[in-house]
Amino acid sequence: MNVNILKGGQVYDAEAHRFAVADVLIEDGRIVRIGKIDAPPTATIVDTHGAYVAPGFIDSHVHVFSHPLFHHSRLAADRVGVQQGVACVVDAGSSGAVTIDAFPTFVRDTQRTATYAFINIGSPGLPNLGGGHSSRPELLDLPGVVKAFGRHGDWLLGVKVLASASHTGAYGEQAVRMARKAAELVGRPLMLHIGNAPPVVDDVLDLLRPGDIVTHAYHGKVGGVLTHGGKVLPAFRAAVERGVWVDIAHGRASFSFSTCARALEQGMPVHSISSDLHAGNVNRYVVSLSRTMSKLLALGLSLADTVRAVTATPAKMLGVDAHGFGRLQPGDPAHVTVFEVRDEPREVEDAEGDRRTLEQWIEPRYVYVGGERHDVSAPL
Ligand SMILES: [Zn+2]
Repeated sequence: MNVNILKGGQVYDAEAHRFAVADVLIEDGRIVRIGKIDAPPTATIVDTHGAYVAPGFIDSHVHVFSHPLFHHSRLAADRVGVQQGVACVVDAGSSGAVTIDAFPTFVRDTQRTATYAFINIGSPGLPNLGGGHSSRPELLDLPGVVKAFGRHGDWLLGVKVLASASHTGAYGEQAVRMARKAAELVGRPLMLHIGNAPPVVDDVLDLLRPGDIVTHAYHGKVGGVLTHGGKVLPAFRAAVERGVWVDIAHGRASFSFSTCARALEQGMPVHSISSDLHAGNVNRYVVSLSRTMSKLLALGLSLADTVRAVTATPAKMLGVDAHGFGRLQPGDPAHVTVFEVRDEPREVEDAEGDRRTLEQWIEPRYVYVGGERHDVSAPL
């Protein structure tokens, strides 16, 4: 029997939404007990004094469909998953109805990180991360998307649509309607990418239902969730009030410190912190989920709020709580991220080139996925 005790760390309790010193006993891949634990002689003691012990981090928006179609933009899930202390990553629509069957071969079956996906309403998905497919009605595949859930409903989490001029063009609102319908038919959330108009953001936000997700919510382009004067759009506020989730998805062009700060000032939430990591931003701008978390910490989220936004909340939003993500609970598979918070100034930039110095830095050390430990080995 394989027995590990994480000893003496600050353990995040999702229900109480706070950290408290405790030990975590992991046996044969499962969490057995949390509290003050005397080690049995057979146990491996893992010293977590001075560190934080959280449910395995979830990145709800990445692009890791490492299929040959993607050529130079291929990125392995483990590079932004376990190698950076992240237990679970969700590919946000890199594949559509004609490519999704290859997702197990090129991602799920070869990676140690737990991987899930949203399927793109545009049938090719996003090869080379270019756009345009969803601007062509003949490539929107509602029946293909619905049928894919019949084959892959255990790891397909929802439907993705990119409602921005570069992806859906003038056809934007129709593409969103079709994706919304597909999501309704399979009973899963719609993930709505917002960007440059058309379509107009108010129109597409109005189409969202409780449980749907707005991703890239706080991008800094004209036509986002703020008016030109910086006020929150009524359509965005109304969407949040009726239960639409707000996801960060930093990306190369989709996170602005000032947009996010203004939205927070006006009472708008950050439900999930995600990176939108892909081959084009993993070495600059975004780099890691933990760096994105540090940016939100700098904008005034508490450490507990920051951790909740990569654990309990996305687990519920995505439905992966059913797979033991988002909490530390006896009986569940042991998905655990151990991290430190370093008081060390670091200069970072958002997607608008706004550079800021962070005073605190969230630094994952290792992660357990189903009880298997992976040490952080990629730059953060
Ligand atoms: Zn994306």
